[in-house]
Parts: sequence; structure tokens; C-alpha cells
Amino acid sequence: ANEYVRKPEWLKIKLNTNEDYTGLKKMMREKKLHTVCEEAKCPNIHECWAVRKTATFMILGSVCTRACRFCAVQTGLPTELDWNEPKRVAESVEQMGLKHVVITAVARDDLKDGGAGVFAETVRAVRERNPFCSIEVLPSDMNGKYENLKLLMDAKPDILNHNIETVRRLTPRVRARATYERSLELLRRAKELNPLTPTKSSIMIGLGETKEEIIETMDDLLANNVDIVTIGQYLQPTKRHLKVQKYWSPEEFNELKEIALAKGFSHCEAGPLVRSSYHADEQVRAAVSN
Ligand code: SF4
Ligand code: SF4
Repeated sequence: ANEYVRKPEWLKIKLNTNEDYTGLKKMMREKKLHTVCEEAKCPNIHECWAVRKTATFMILGSVCTRACRFCAVQTGLPTELDWNEPKRVAESVEQMGLKHVVITAVARDDLKDGGAGVFAETVRAVRERNPFCSIEVLPSDMNGKYENLKLLMDAKPDILNHNIETVRRLTPRVRARATYERSLELLRRAKELNPLTPTKSSIMIGLGETKEEIIETMDDLLANNVDIVTIGQYLQPTKRHLKVQKYWSPEEFNELKEIALAKGFSHCEAGPLVRSSYHADEQVRAAVSN
């Protein structure tokens, strides 16, 4: 029973090694910035950085106060708060020529505002320098402090993304400190604060959930006015993390996508390699034109 489920063919992708990101990676180090694209060794980096002109920045440091059992980000006591980070992110977005940027952050439960001040400032700084780049924010649950969510929504991001991550039953096993209900509430409140801003959430599957439970999660998201859902395969980042219980097939992902669209989401991306930020540029367009 302790055997690893074998990785199926559709996940054995060849990383594109022709493209040279040394310059961009060097810039990230010089500016002390972190991208999920690099740190999660995301298989879509070529498509996103070079073709689609999108990237996901992780702000507020690289050390998280939480330790979710699926996540490869380092846990510990975070470093101090860096109020110059917003400016550096804005400059990097410009240098990369991005058309869409996702800004996420580690959970800073050590800070009173959960980091919302710097987060909001980053949205403003990016917009000021890059007026044509759409901005998606992907915050943690901010410990349920909704004045912090308001601080962020007041910066008027183009899209608010908050991941439910998994189905209700598995949440206590998969996520640290976050609860299923609190994530739904954050999504609902974001929509109440800025009714015209699309909201979005992601489910990673392969952790032992059933199809019925995935559908129930879709219903819960819709009941809280979420517009966009993305569904992707969980991959174990290291042996210390939760094991993959199942590799859902591309056909099953297609079926889930059809179900999501039939239920009323304005946009759905579902597939083995789909990540929260995958094809995010299209999602904004779809949500805005809906
Ligand atoms: Fe980065 Fe997201 Fe694209 Fe992966 S899917 S390369 S994390 S923007
Ligand atoms: Fe990773 Fe976010 Fe959980 Fe921190 S809160 S461990 S960054 S998923």
C-alpha cells in the first residue's frame, strides 16, 4: 500500500531546454524576487514566459509561516517586510514585457495586516508602470481578517484568485491552518467588495478525492459567486509531501471541464498540467467579456 502510483505517460513532458532564461533568472536574483514559475519548477515556464508573456511572482519573502502538506515553499520565521519590493516587481514586469501577471504571497501570519499593505502597494506599483498588463492577485486566506482583504481589493486588481485547493473532506489533511469555509467566505467577500472583479479558485486533484466531491466543491464555489475554476493534477514536490493517490486522465479532466462549464462557471481550465495561473490571460478576457 506504500507503493507510489506510477507517473502516467501524459505527465512525462520534456522540458524545453532551447530557451535560455539565464538573463531573466539573473534579474530575479539581482532584484531578490521569487517566482512560482521557477521555484515550483513549473513545466509551463516556456509557454508562459516566452509565448504568453505571463508569470507568477511570490512576494513578501520566500519563507512561509504555514506548512501545507502539498507545498514546496520553505516554512519558518519570515524575514522582515520589504517596502521596496513593490517597485522591483513593477520593474521586472516591465522588463519581461508581461501582458498578465499573477501576484501571490507566502502567508505572513506574523504580520498584523498579513502583508496586505505591501501586497496592495505591489498592485499599484505594477499598474503605474505597466498600464496594459492585467493583474491577478492570489492571496492566502489572510487569517480571516477581512479588513486586510479590503485593503487589497481597494488596489483594484483585475482578478481575485484564492485557491480552495482541495475538497471539503481532505482540507484538514492537506492545508495548514486554512479551512474550507474560510476560503469560501474570502471569495464571497471579495465579490461583495468589488462586484465587477472576477473571482477565481483552483482545485488540485489526485489526493484521494472522488468525482462527486469535486463536483460538490464546484457547487460550493458557485454558491459563493466564483466565476472561474481551474483544476489540475497534484504532483508530489518531494518525498516528504503528500503522496499522489491517483493520476486523473486527460479524458477525465475534459469531463470535469464540461461539468464546470455546464454548471455555470464563465471559464474553466482543467488538465493534468493546469496550474492556478495557467492560461490566466485568457481567463481574464473571458470573465471580463461575460
Ligand atoms: Fe508560472 Fe503559472 Fe505559468 Fe507555471 S503556469 S510558468 S507558475 S505563470
Ligand atoms: Fe505554501 Fe501557501 Fe501553504 Fe504557505 S500558505 S505553505 S505558501 S500553500
